[in-house]
Amino acid sequence: MNPKEITKTYTNGEVTILWQAALCQHSGVCVKNLHNVFKPQTQPWIQMEHASSEEIVATVAKCPSGALSIVENK
Ligand code: SF4
Repeated sequence: MNPKEITKTYTNGEVTILWQAALCQHSGVCVKNLHNVFKPQTQPWIQMEHASSEEIVATVAKCPSGALSIVENK
């Protein structure tokens, strides 16, 4: 599988976000906004438990490429 085609979902039970590798420009906007959650050097690289759902939703909205999106918000 082409690594560019990877899509991953991450959830905290309230909010589920989708990350599409092919769209990510690695601009680091998410990392700068919420560095406790978005950690490109670790696995998994998105750690939902380190911020509130509101903070995560707000940061996803700032992703300039659309690589991050909300798939479910309970
Ligand atoms: S803000 Fe979006 S495009 Fe930028 S690194 Fe994060 S996921 Fe990728």
